[in-house]
Amino acid sequence: MIMGLTGGIASGKSTVSALFVGKGAALVDADVIAREVMLPGHPVLAAAVQEFGEEILQPDGSLNRARLGEMVFGNQEALQTLNNLTHPAIRREIKDRMYALEEENPQRLIIVDIPLLFESQWDTLFDKIIVVYVPRRVQLARLMARNGLKLEQAEDRLKSQMDIELKRRKADYVIDNSGDSEATSRQVAALWDKLGHI
Ligand code: ADP
Repeated sequence: MIMGLTGGIASGKSTVSALFVGKGAALVDADVIAREVMLPGHPVLAAAVQEFGEEILQPDGSLNRARLGEMVFGNQEALQTLNNLTHPAIRREIKDRMYALEEENPQRLIIVDIPLLFESQWDTLFDKIIVVYVPRRVQLARLMARNGLKLEQAEDRLKSQMDIELKRRKADYVIDNSGDSEATSRQVAALWDKLGHI
């Protein structure tokens, strides 16, 4: 069974994905794939340079992520252009990997961690979706602590994402990660057992 897993920034997607892997699930991580398509030599990076210029590269030819981030941050049109370049390749790679894993072992639970699953309309790839939920104030506090951000900066990062309450409503299964790690582990164990019977 292939499950999409999402949530908000710093809601605990990586934490919950790791708990499922600990149970025996296989993981496809969209963030890892998104970085891979921007490695030197990849045609997607070449297309991005064509579009945004050599200035998005470091002297050694690798991506200057901060520079590209500045160019698209708050600029809807530029962000859309970048997404149009990267998303088809990322989506294809996610599909290739998840179906290869499924073929390898049809019994295994496959978790596909995609931060912007709903925003990118990738929910159609999955039968069922898990949302890792925390209320907005917890999300902000954890984001500030993890990334060393001020409140205003953390709020800025949340702005480009769909409201976490809406994501929760769209979920087939919700893991509430607002308690301690024990409470989250118990929910993952319960869902793991439940999915075993579907
Ligand atoms: P995401 O992958 O959604 O961005 P992370 O799994 O990295 O989120 O979690 C965000 C931050 O919150 C990390 O610093 C992590 O250690 C912390 N965290 C995750 N779950 C909990 C929890 N249940 N209690 C306290 N801190 C947590």
